[in-house]
Amino acid sequence: MHDENALKQAKKLVAAAKKISALTGAGISVDSGIPDFRSEGGIWERFDPHEYGTYDAFLNDPSKFWTMGRELAKVMLKAKPNPAHIALAKLEQTGKLLGVITQNIDNLHQVAGNSNVIELHGSYLRAHCMECKTEYVGEEVHQRVADGEIPPRCEKCGGVLKSEAVLFGEPMPEDPMARAVEICNDTDLMLVIGTSLSVYPAAFLPQLAKNSGAKVILINLEGANRDDVADIILMGKASDLVPRLFGISE
Ligand code: NAD
Repeated sequence: MHDENALKQAKKLVAAAKKISALTGAGISVDSGIPDFRSEGGIWERFDPHEYGTYDAFLNDPSKFWTMGRELAKVMLKAKPNPAHIALAKLEQTGKLLGVITQNIDNLHQVAGNSNVIELHGSYLRAHCMECKTEYVGEEVHQRVADGEIPPRCEKCGGVLKSEAVLFGEPMPEDPMARAVEICNDTDLMLVIGTSLSVYPAAFLPQLAKNSGAKVILINLEGANRDDVADIILMGKASDLVPRLFGISE
């Protein structure tokens, strides 16, 4: 349960801020039906991400990864943005939002209407050929996987396709991280929403914003690993708290 006084203080910070940023994690999409790694039930109990979602596992046996990918895509393709995603899209319309930095790969911020979304860990809607690097964008690859093509292969050269969702142990794309760091240096208020702050280097970004003078509001169902970085902690569901923080009633 969050504390109403903390919410009141957080609203004051939002009202005073001119350059707001958001760092989001799996928790913001839980109310859209996509489980985070901690939730009981769902796909992560059948597919341990540390076993199926590592870069080494993919290189050893891409079929194993794509078997999980098929289940993940089923969940992601039918998910819709929830009130937290929509509230961030409305915040962008006010001109106060520098951007949304996300660890999610589910594309829901874009569907909600945010235009500056920095995907630190890639997107499940992009894939590329491991051999000739041809890019595949959209749902087509997932359709082929759903139809039994595991692993999916490049139509040009027959190479195995790799999803552009960043796997454990895989180097992160450099450009999104550089853009995220720019935002951290510029923002005066960072909202950290639905992340356990356990995956680095993303987990370091709130500290970076704080070092540059920003206030940090953490919104999470439970404590995160870096609670110490927060000026205000709001505990509860993002789909409830984020719209209330911006004074948006549904
Ligand atoms: P995480 O699973 O480690 O942590 C999620 C956090 O969200 C937890 O602290 C949990 O208490 C909180 N949470 C759960 N439900 C919530 C709700 N309704 N409202 C507010 N908070 C809620 O996720 P992470 O920190 O993002 O890191 C895990 C990695 O796995 C990241 O790379 C992430 O992108 C990836 N992942 C992505 C998705 C997705 O794209 N939707 C889903 C699962 C995992």
